[in-house]
Amino acid sequence: MPISVAIVGSGPAGFYTAEALVKTLDGGVAVDIVERLPTPFGLIRAGVAPDHQTTKKVARSFEKTAHRPEIRYFGNVEVGRDLTLAELQETHDAVVLAVGAPFDRALGIPGEDKVGVIGSAAFVGWYNAHPDFADLDPRLNTEAVAVIGNGNVAIDIARVLVKTAAEMADSDIPEYAQRAIERAPVKDVYLFGRRGPIEAKFTNVELREMGVLDDCAPVVDAAQLPDAAGEMSDRDRRLKEKNLATLQEFATQDVGERRKRVHFRFFTSPVEILGGETVEGLRLEKTRLEGGRAVGTGETFEIACGLVIPAVGYRSVAVAGAPFDEANAVVPSDDGRVAPGLYAVGWIKRGPSGVIATNRPDGVAVAEYIRDDIGNGTKPGRAALERLLEERGAQVVGFADWKKIEEAEEAGAGAPAPRRKFFRIADMLKVVGTGATRRSAD
Ligand SMILES: Cc1cc2nc3c(=O)[nH]c(=O)nc-3n(C[C@H](O)[C@H](O)[C@H](O)COP(=O)(O)OP(=O)(O)OC[C@H]3O[C@@H](n4cnc5c(N)ncnc54)[C@H](O)[C@@H]3O)c2cc1C
Repeated sequence: MPISVAIVGSGPAGFYTAEALVKTLDGGVAVDIVERLPTPFGLIRAGVAPDHQTTKKVARSFEKTAHRPEIRYFGNVEVGRDLTLAELQETHDAVVLAVGAPFDRALGIPGEDKVGVIGSAAFVGWYNAHPDFADLDPRLNTEAVAVIGNGNVAIDIARVLVKTAAEMADSDIPEYAQRAIERAPVKDVYLFGRRGPIEAKFTNVELREMGVLDDCAPVVDAAQLPDAAGEMSDRDRRLKEKNLATLQEFATQDVGERRKRVHFRFFTSPVEILGGETVEGLRLEKTRLEGGRAVGTGETFEIACGLVIPAVGYRSVAVAGAPFDEANAVVPSDDGRVAPGLYAVGWIKRGPSGVIATNRPDGVAVAEYIRDDIGNGTKPGRAALERLLEERGAQVVGFADWKKIEEAEEAGAGAPAPRRKFFRIADMLKVVGTGATRRSAD
């Protein structure tokens, strides 16, 4: 009997695992991908910036995997809501957790609970039409926004906030977000990093984009830029020196007629979010590096801003029934082996770092472990899962249903936008056409 595997989560880690299982077990596996949203592909759809459509094309290869006869997609089915992990472990020989890290890491400073502090996961979800965040209504009635963090997520957020409507025309940003951004009086976006330009995690392509925008100029203080990258491997030095050269160029750029500015402020650490119930400003402390770590100098300063977006990393949460390492916010595992028959891949296994392709080796390794650990399938798998979901009245969105949703999104877009995303699950289900028989648990 083929080995039955349930993968929980259809992001890159889930799909790379499905692909590897099909290759490794060559005809001897049946894979069921269970995804809480009707739409597949995790952060490719809901994280990767709406104006970076080329990056999203990786989903095309996942689509080929989804069409393989061994694979079945169960969209709109959430583990923990529609069925439990224990139930999946009973029906399937192996369960692979690929649920990602959907929440924000907190800054841990006073004032973080004020209205106008919105974590990057929520803000990015909002401008990417994630149903959980479509109603976020971020406080954009401000001239200044502070983004905390020096990685690509921070730079994505800054760019989306300052690009013109014409520059976003070929993106898939939802209309509600584009309108809100267009109407907002935002002029200054600050990117604060605790450490320096060498330690910043921006990749050069993303950084350079900031210098070629229609109505926004990058602002960099040349005094914060070192002359050279310092001691590190040749590869790292090449990458860091590229960023340094880009920042040096920014430091000499004239703002000219451009109405908006993105300020790169290194060696600054937020210490308090200021205001009453709502955000009015941010107090920061200047830092210096000691042994690669940022330490406060005691010198503080304030900026006025109405929105603070911490982009300092993502965080996983426990899946009921699976072990969880609270300190590191991951499912603890031996390279993906969690417990007999239970595995983890991607951000829930490693923590929230790396690009899409970084998740691939996780899937390859776990596929081999499943082959070695399980040998032959003994559990009923798909048929039992289908029965269970039917009993629960779950409205399962299959891959063909998702393709209908996608077609409707593409048909609804005005050129040059690639698609007009649905942001309500009910609207997606309407397209699928099986009516609104929702889960009995709702
Ligand atoms: C804002 C942002 C921008 C990024 N941009 C890029 C980029 O431009 N290029 C790049 O290479 N990488 C980018 N990345 C990194 C990349 O997106 C991640 O490496 C990758 O998505 C992690 O894969 P994952 O499968 O572990 O998690 P995810 O992509 O988060 O997938 C997890 C999936 O599990 C589902 N799920 C969660 N809980 C349940 C449950 N209980 N039951 C069923 N399903 C569940 C979720 O709905 C989701 O679909 C970006 C990341 C972020 C946060």
